[in-house]
Amino acid sequence: MLENVRVALLDIDGTLCRGASAIAGAAEFVERIRDRKIRPVFFTNNATRTPEQVVSYLASCGIGAHIDEVCTSAQFAAHIIAKRVGERAKVAYIGQSGLEQALSEQGCVLVRPPSKPELGGDRGVRHAAEAAVMGLDPTATYATLAWFCHQVVGIGWYMLTNNDARFPSDDGFVPGNGALGSFVTTATGIKPVVAGKPNPDFVRYTLERFSAEVDEAVVIGDNGATDIRAGLAAGVLTIQVRSGVPLPTEGSEADFVVDSVADL
Ligand SMILES: [Mg+2]
Repeated sequence: MLENVRVALLDIDGTLCRGASAIAGAAEFVERIRDRKIRPVFFTNNATRTPEQVVSYLASCGIGAHIDEVCTSAQFAAHIIAKRVGERAKVAYIGQSGLEQALSEQGCVLVRPPSKPELGGDRGVRHAAEAAVMGLDPTATYATLAWFCHQVVGIGWYMLTNNDARFPSDDGFVPGNGALGSFVTTATGIKPVVAGKPNPDFVRYTLERFSAEVDEAVVIGDNGATDIRAGLAAGVLTIQVRSGVPLPTEGSEADFVVDSVADL
């Protein structure tokens, strides 16, 4: 299955890990592909963690990874904004350290929600931002979301790091960034630009970072609507695993479907 593959874009949640632990055989799988000279790339829509935090999280699950092998939707969102708006772009955001660090590394100026946002919008800075981006932030409140909506209306567009409806957790799921995006879209009437999977440009950006051609890569993930759709649209080999959040894999369009990465 992995013949000719040089770079493996590996989804994390539901593919390598579930909650606080690795999926059985995932650590060995990563070592096995390294031995075969296949570069693992930890390719995640999760924008909350910095690459350093992704590496420590994977390490706590027993999976060995390097910082430069991590590719997050926050990094790609920041890349798009810097390209679209320019360096030193003033960016209003809701999100956690993964998004903050990615924006800072692109040279963006962070426009944070005020500590006590007023529901009527802070008129002084409402139009100060040139871009608006949202990543999952469990500390977001009605007031910070209201502040963000004002920014979005002033700018005329906004970006989501990812549009995932749910996020797997030890006790099932928590609402994902897509759920927060629905709030903003309902309130503003403006649909988001989505950086992460299923956007095939996220795959292309990652391949470029690792100097890999389309026919040298594979996308491995549990979610047909995000991981597999992104891989297919980019023309990359796709393998769907059944180890993630219960998602239908029957009728999957992936090139291959296996129970878990332990089978690869
Ligand atoms: Mg997943």
